[in-house]
Amino acid sequence: MSRDTGFALRGEVLHAEGVPLSRIAQGVGTPTYVYSASSLRAAARRFRAALSPIPRLSLAFAVKANPSLAVLSVLRDERFGADIVSGGELTAALAAGMDASSIVYSGVGKTPEELAQALRAGVGHINLEGEHEGEVLAATAVRLGLGATALLRINPNVDAGTHAKITTGTSDSKFGVPLADAIGIYDRLARRRGLTLHGIAVHIGSQIMDLAPLEAAYRRIGELVAALRARGHRITHVDLGGGLGVDYRDGPDGDVAAYGAMVARVTQDWDVTLMVEPGRYIAAHAGVLLTRVLWVKPGEECPFVVIDAGMNDLARPALYDAWHEFAAVTPNGATMQAHVVGPVCESSDRFAKARLIDRVREGDLAILRDVGAYGASMASCYNSRALVAEVMVEGDRYAVIAPRIDAAAIRPQVVPDWLEAHALDHAA
Ligand SMILES: *Cc1c(COP(=O)(O)O)cnc(C)c1O
Repeated sequence: MSRDTGFALRGEVLHAEGVPLSRIAQGVGTPTYVYSASSLRAAARRFRAALSPIPRLSLAFAVKANPSLAVLSVLRDERFGADIVSGGELTAALAAGMDASSIVYSGVGKTPEELAQALRAGVGHINLEGEHEGEVLAATAVRLGLGATALLRINPNVDAGTHAKITTGTSDSKFGVPLADAIGIYDRLARRRGLTLHGIAVHIGSQIMDLAPLEAAYRRIGELVAALRARGHRITHVDLGGGLGVDYRDGPDGDVAAYGAMVARVTQDWDVTLMVEPGRYIAAHAGVLLTRVLWVKPGEECPFVVIDAGMNDLARPALYDAWHEFAAVTPNGATMQAHVVGPVCESSDRFAKARLIDRVREGDLAILRDVGAYGASMASCYNSRALVAEVMVEGDRYAVIAPRIDAAAIRPQVVPDWLEAHALDHAA
């Protein structure tokens, strides 16, 4: 494979950079997410280099793709800001040492408390998902005696041509305001005390491989910027969102060089600071989910390889029918046709269906590839399973960056005394 994923066979054993995955399994157990810092850095640099023709550029990592503090710290080192969607992500970005002014806050359901938290922290831009949110933000800013800087998020009604569950720019999507209403809303919000509008934001979806819908959306934004300026608005920033896709099999990733060239071409007359917010492109290839085969259960057409990672640890296959490569940590050259499934009591807890995979046996270690984005960040304790551990590797060292936590510790349980009494009655 041409891309540098940070995970490769060395001798007989799959390594994360210089560390054998078997060593991590021994030290930390399974299932465990393992990230390669070098792979993160390489993707961040590739992205920045591809966008270097843009004169004023500000890059923000989409924290929801991977909010681990260690991951955010690597990206802070690479001079990325943060694109956040909650107060919790704001806390994470600040804890990772990111500059508040480099933070962009998107999301369709920000609470008044979260808006206040963002203002107090000095977040660079709040992306307004509707007129009402702008009114609440302005009122909150006045009440706190702080200024709010914001962008208005537009829904350009362009279909990103990606999975329906990760499309955000069509007219039936909850995100942003319709293009037709944009000027009226911008006019009214720009007059609000406490609120300074700097421009426009757009984000049409994720895992986008075809640049045409992105270009179509950006062109509509360009026209809107011109129209707003004609009405006297001062537009200094445009946030183009994220969305560039990666390949999960063995083809090429979304063409980042072509993306950079397209953005430079479409925006050359805009005279603004451009903000771009990649998530998946930066992190997807930089992580694997290390797992152990619990047993191989015979099946009608082919066997079930039951692994100790489930849909609670990695939701993407159940949620989006996503494909993740399955590979043995110590492959022996043989293959088998099998279903790869997790232990969770749901039929959708399946990672591969009748797929040709490395031959594995009970007790073997294996990985699911390309899970650095939208992997651990979506993990849950469903089935009262532990919250999955995470490890960062750089060179020949590794560290646990998030320990495995028992479900009971994540959500401490309380039984009201009136229920306990009831239970005792039954026991008697
Ligand atoms: C999720 C999201 C991103 C990142 O999307 P990727 O497909 O991971 O690049 C960027 N901006 C906004 C507003 C988002 O919601």
